[in-house]
Amino acid sequence: MAEKLLQLLRNISEVIAHADDNAVALSRVVRILAQGLEVDVCSVYEHDMTKDSLVLLATHGLKASAIGKVEMRSGEGLTGKCFKDNIVINVANPSRKPGYKYFKSTGEERFKSFMAIPLVMAGSCVGVFTLQRTVAEKFHDQIVDVGRSLAPQLANLIINAEIFKTFAKSSPEKLVSKNRAKQSFVMHGSAANSGFAKGQIFKYLANNRLDEMEHEIHSDSGQELIFFDHALQLARANTLELEYKALSMISEADASIFNSHLLILEDKTVIDAIKREITDEHHTLEFSVVVVYRRFRKKFISLDNQVLRERLADFKDAMMRLLESAGFIREKRQDEFSFTGTSGSWIIFASELLPSDLIRMPLDNVVGIVCEKGGVTSHVAILAKAFSIPALMGVKGIIDRVNNYDTAIIDGYAEKLLINPDSEIEKEFVKLLEAAESEDAAISENASPQIFTADGYEIVCKANISLISETNLLKKYGASGIGLYRTEFLFMIRDYLPSEETQFDIFTKVIRTSNGDVTLRLLDAGGDKQVVPVAVSHEDNPALGLRGIRLLNAYPDLLRTHLRAILRAGQFGKIKIMLPMISTLSEIEQFRKLLNKVEQELQAKKIVYGSDYELGIMIEVPSVIFNLPKIIQIIDFASIGTNDLFQFTFARDRESDDNQQNMDYFDPAFLRILSKIGRIFSDHPDKELAICGEMVSNPLATPLLIGAGIHSFSMPAKLITDIRKIIPAFSLAECKTMLNNAVDSVDSNKVIAIIKQSFSDRKL
Ligand code: PEP
Ligand code: MG
Repeated sequence: MAEKLLQLLRNISEVIAHADDNAVALSRVVRILAQGLEVDVCSVYEHDMTKDSLVLLATHGLKASAIGKVEMRSGEGLTGKCFKDNIVINVANPSRKPGYKYFKSTGEERFKSFMAIPLVMAGSCVGVFTLQRTVAEKFHDQIVDVGRSLAPQLANLIINAEIFKTFAKSSPEKLVSKNRAKQSFVMHGSAANSGFAKGQIFKYLANNRLDEMEHEIHSDSGQELIFFDHALQLARANTLELEYKALSMISEADASIFNSHLLILEDKTVIDAIKREITDEHHTLEFSVVVVYRRFRKKFISLDNQVLRERLADFKDAMMRLLESAGFIREKRQDEFSFTGTSGSWIIFASELLPSDLIRMPLDNVVGIVCEKGGVTSHVAILAKAFSIPALMGVKGIIDRVNNYDTAIIDGYAEKLLINPDSEIEKEFVKLLEAAESEDAAISENASPQIFTADGYEIVCKANISLISETNLLKKYGASGIGLYRTEFLFMIRDYLPSEETQFDIFTKVIRTSNGDVTLRLLDAGGDKQVVPVAVSHEDNPALGLRGIRLLNAYPDLLRTHLRAILRAGQFGKIKIMLPMISTLSEIEQFRKLLNKVEQELQAKKIVYGSDYELGIMIEVPSVIFNLPKIIQIIDFASIGTNDLFQFTFARDRESDDNQQNMDYFDPAFLRILSKIGRIFSDHPDKELAICGEMVSNPLATPLLIGAGIHSFSMPAKLITDIRKIIPAFSLAECKTMLNNAVDSVDSNKVIAIIKQSFSDRKL
């Protein structure tokens, strides 16, 4: 069924990519769905907000003459009920059901089974999708699941059609290459992920280009229109490619994001508007895109409907892809342009990169990342580590100094970036790159998960992951399970909440493919992790706003679905449930109540789930440390999140690149905190103390963390190799002494000197 769904999604995307407008696309889509799902009728109804009624928008199987004519009020008939109550209706013999309403003009009397699925986008229902058959049998559960999975695509189609329909009603020099001469130079940054990378530069244009570009004109409309055609084709090809990638490579990603972009790139209103700018105003293709974007942005902002208004981000994204494509065509200056981002090795250069930007990229071919903004603990940096992509952050002013296709080398160890190096230097780096790759492989072949200090005390090394695809790395680097599964990424890349089934599927895959137990951290939204479907209204200081466990407890429906999916997936392996941003005992108690209720529900309905889970917390908010003596009684484990713990203890924004040099985990005050946590846990040997913040990936910190009594380390899988080399070189007693000396030191320089001396004594 998964394969079938994938195929259907692909077919839908192909149709969207080649249709002339949304209405045509929709009529083809319903035909494909009816055939693919082997049903007699597939129809889509759109909600008309002005009348609060549902109108038949497209159908395969009902009379075509009914399109645009059949209309029902919200709540009227089974379709209206599905819409109003936002529920799936799946019945045999619908005419016998209460509330059934017959529409003669559709010719539907011969259909004896009926299913209706609400089309929800960003929390709002925009229409209904129905299936009908002549057999008098309810639809099988699998078809219901496929229908639900298709719903976001269909909702996208409706929303796009609606937006551009609204807009259509209300609206009506020679090319200059921007290429600079190739220059060779070296820049410095902060390495978010070590390692070497060599590739061609791909400038991921900052979104503000649409706001900043100034007036540009051309002198040859014909030529400019040809460029536009090429750029449009390239942008569509890239979008389709991204969608395929998302579907096949990162199971968490959702193809519907790209569907809506394709729809925009196909929309006649948009295309005509750009063409008019080129021919009538003599604007360059790029400036025409910018003008149309600015004009449409105003219209988006003025829309009454919030769901439609929020599509501005997609519109912007699609226009950015068009600009990027135009840039590539111009700078390459070749007629047959072939960049798709899916072959070759690319280093992404961006002013600022968001996690969703990165996930959207064809990651197989991204070998490095360079950002002007963002720190090494930013989420994109964490993702780069997760994907094992060398990344340099905080390289100020780099975007304006490089061209697409220039050669770049990242030396993550020396935190250096080399642009267009001379051939001798390039050769040396290629040698280093090859050596690093073979060293990696050699270590992974011999890796065994167990690792002990010199005196036989076991330190467990686990992996931090955000995506299913990362479970591939666990065995390779000898990880004994997953110590931090950041579940938020599967929410961050959607603009609606993933269903229980979607979450269940993803969690099941992670649990089944992991090498040991899985610590699932509950959705950690808010603050720097903006999750569109649960975005809270404006807060002056989101870092201290509704986030983490507070947000989960405030949204019991969301939490309930999330927990059901986790508990059900827990039947496939050992799971540990970890609560983010805990600051008080009462937050855990409130959560516990809901957890108990969810378990009771599952038991009452005889739904299989894993009851043998452990419950633990993140230690990342300072107040929790002072509550720990009580909290420890009601939890099974805790994991220290040094990224947030440092940020909130020292009042330093973890995302700010200005603060990167100051994220000083070796500050004696911070070490004293770790030592205090360790002492509380030493009275409770049955409770596990773990760490999963970035500090644990720094080999210099290893003896101090062992000395603090932390016995479970979790980090990006690839970095385990380095830490494994340090652990056996120290005894537990030596680590404790070192921590005591460090805590008593005057400053972090002294601490680092102590550690370095101990490393050189051991020839590390
Ligand atoms: C932390 O805060 O240290 C942590 C591991 O969580 P995240 O980086 O996901 O906020
Ligand atoms: Mg955190």
